Amino acid sequence: MKAAIITIGDELLIGQTIDTNSAWIGAELSKSGFDVSRITSVHDRRDDIIFALNEAAGKTDIVLITGGLGPTSDDITKQTLCEFFNTHLIINDEVLNMIEKMMILRNFPMNEKNRRQAEVPESCRVLKNAAGTAPGMWFEKEGTIYISMPGVPYEMKYLMTELVLPELNKRFTSQVIIHRNIMTYGTFESKLADILTDFESGLPESIKLAYLPASGIIKLRLTGTGADYNSLLKLINEQAGKLYKIIPELIYAEDEESLEMVIGKLLKSSDKTVCTAESCTGGEVAHLLTSVAGSSAYYKGSVIAYANSVKTQLLGVGEEIIEKHGAVSQETVKDMAIGARKLLKTDFAVATSGIAGPDGGTETKPVGTIWIAVASGKEVICEKHVFGNDRNTNINRFTLAALNLLRKQIIKS
Ligand code: AMP
Ligand code: MG
Repeated sequence: MKAAIITIGDELLIGQTIDTNSAWIGAELSKSGFDVSRITSVHDRRDDIIFALNEAAGKTDIVLITGGLGPTSDDITKQTLCEFFNTHLIINDEVLNMIEKMMILRNFPMNEKNRRQAEVPESCRVLKNAAGTAPGMWFEKEGTIYISMPGVPYEMKYLMTELVLPELNKRFTSQVIIHRNIMTYGTFESKLADILTDFESGLPESIKLAYLPASGIIKLRLTGTGADYNSLLKLINEQAGKLYKIIPELIYAEDEESLEMVIGKLLKSSDKTVCTAESCTGGEVAHLLTSVAGSSAYYKGSVIAYANSVKTQLLGVGEEIIEKHGAVSQETVKDMAIGARKLLKTDFAVATSGIAGPDGGTETKPVGTIWIAVASGKEVICEKHVFGNDRNTNINRFTLAALNLLRKQIIKS
């Protein structure tokens, strides 16, 4: 069951508006078992719209179109659809009534532009839009269904959820597609692909593996396609089970869960608390921890110990320790974590000290070096990493490394 998506609007082509409609529609169609074969974005120009429609015609079962249905002169989708389907615009009384009522409700006088919103191509079936003024339009031509919807995301979503998807699901006894997203941290894409070479070559025909890296985290997505939901689910679960056996130390969660969300769950369920003592990350670890709703149950506070004087005066790191080993050292972060834990009276404390760059690196401690410590009641664990040269990327990587060490220590305790 093939589908194509066409989004219309010059703003999409010049980076002014991000085409979120395609992403949303693609996800929904995929859940319904459609194979989305093409997403095309085109200018509000007759030739470009006709080109995109011709490209999809006859090659897909459904074509979902958004944009260009507004009342202004730059919106030409309706006229162009009339040309493509060899029809003409007529006033739809039901839509006109609805728009009139809406205008009265908003206390706006009806004008010619509003009336034009009630015009629809004669050959289409009108999809009433209770979320706005521009109706959706359903066409069928030579075995392909074309559905045109407004560009405004919530209006498009309304039409899709209320009218379009239910009808498509009824009309097409589609294949089942199941995704399982496994979140990993702690390695890079090419290395992970190396580790998973045999796993990948042993995958059944109906299951595909995708690597989706995003700033330090790699999401492994298993996608299964088949006719029967239950047997496909069993198959995909078996393969996911294998992954858990091959890379148990790298998998930290599933779906879109972040490290800070996982930490939140772990701390909540064990009734434990945490605090942070941050030098090079400048509060980023605290920021992520507190971005989770309900974090006040387990997160107590932070000492942003950027200057050495704060490390010594507030966290009790010995001046001689910093003098002898440097601020970026195992000894310093260890005492930062111990000091923060004592000061803020928590079960865990995580501390960071590193060189984000671009300056400040030395031969033995290059830019990108970080020391992390996690203190618990039992022990203090320290870890060193060396990342790259870019300051922002380093701060992001440092933060994830700190969160991951914290996560591992909570699980161990
Ligand atoms: P239109 O239906 O072309 O008048 O679009 C109305 C508004 O919807 C535009 O100003 C955009 O802000 C938004 N919009 C249009 N197309 C998209 C799209 N593909 N993704 C996200 N927003 C969109
Ligand atoms: Mg537009």
